[in-house]
Amino acid sequence: MKLVSILGSTGSIGMSTLDVIRLNKDKYRVVALTAHSNVDKLVQQCIEFQPNFAVIGSSELAKELASRLKSSPDSATQVLFGVSSLEEVAQLSDVNMVVAAIVGAAGLLSTLAAAKSGKQILLANKEALVISGELLMNVARDSGADILPLDSEHNALFQCMPAGYQTGLPAKGVRKIMLTASGGPFLNFDASELKKVTPEQACRHPNWSMGKKISVDSATMMNKGLEVIEASYLFDFPADNIEVLIHPQSIIHSMVDYVDGSVLAQLGNPDMRTSIAHALAWPERIESGVAPLDLLKDNVLNFSAPSYERFPCLKLAFDALNTQGTAPAILNAANEVAIDLFLHRKIAFTDISSLVAKVLNKMNVVSAGSIEAVLSVDKEARAVAFELSEGV
Ligand code: NDP
Repeated sequence: MKLVSILGSTGSIGMSTLDVIRLNKDKYRVVALTAHSNVDKLVQQCIEFQPNFAVIGSSELAKELASRLKSSPDSATQVLFGVSSLEEVAQLSDVNMVVAAIVGAAGLLSTLAAAKSGKQILLANKEALVISGELLMNVARDSGADILPLDSEHNALFQCMPAGYQTGLPAKGVRKIMLTASGGPFLNFDASELKKVTPEQACRHPNWSMGKKISVDSATMMNKGLEVIEASYLFDFPADNIEVLIHPQSIIHSMVDYVDGSVLAQLGNPDMRTSIAHALAWPERIESGVAPLDLLKDNVLNFSAPSYERFPCLKLAFDALNTQGTAPAILNAANEVAIDLFLHRKIAFTDISSLVAKVLNKMNVVSAGSIEAVLSVDKEARAVAFELSEGV
């Protein structure tokens, strides 16, 4: 029986993880569940999964959660709140696995805490790697923590990697990694249409059902840019050897290209429960609830190169990765602010990339050598983004 903490259990990834666990109750026990503000969902999850701990964002919400759980007859869940409690449940001594599924930089410290204590981390929170890639990978290496990617592309790459790839991809014959991208809901929109798109349109992804932030990231293709950075740190591979391919059907989740001309791909229906089940059971396999792929039905697989003109966020992310230091952290913080402003209808969709570019131009890049340095840059970049958003 593996013991699991799920950080961000009320989100899209968190709920899909619980779906897979529900199918495999004999193999996994949930020790901790966490949410930011969704008390209703967390109450339901606590009643069903009976975790030892539930963490919520504030003391007021914790009181409400505790009182609602008290009225449930056999609830023995202890209610905690705040960032330090997220770190606490990520480090519990009897927990084997931590699912890092909080969205954005808010997931950084708890992911880092899990890495420090040598847990097996099922990583969905790509922003943690983007902000502090080298730091997080070094901490995990030192403590012996395994980082198993949940992002479907990185999980696909992980499945296609050669044995012992951690010693260096070139020595193992890997020439290139190819990340596939659906192109999002606006793949065929022209520039004038893009200016007017609404948050509702941006959140309506053609193939995947996801949280709001990643849905907007998919529409701008910043998501793919963040994934390029994530892949570079996870697999220790430079930007020049990472290619992005638009593949609108989202059937091939990514590919590894070898020097002998072999290309290994992982295929499946676009459903996050596949990569979640893979990472939960690795190196074994378990049922995920995902329908089998029917290639006679889904028999067209197209590919094209992304245009930086249409998707400027992708270029910004490649540039930030090449710049290194705190550039990816600045990119991420500015992007989180820009998305929030767009979702609140304060800026247009096309302003997201302009605002991120302006923040990157304005701020100095320094070494990302400590978590304090990274957190301070994250804070400053958010303030700069707010200030510059007046003029976009
Ligand atoms: P959601 O928005 O659906 O869920 C986010 C979760 O994080 C919720 O449980 C939310 O709680 C919690 N949360 C939000 N803000 C905070 C905060 N400040 N402190 C603590 N907890 C917080 O996101 P997704 O599940 O879509 O995405 C989660 C992560 O996984 C992201 O990094 C995303 O990029 C990545 N990912 C997602 C995929 C997907 O298919 N959804 C695919 C690949 C990667 P509450 O519900 O209370 O707000």
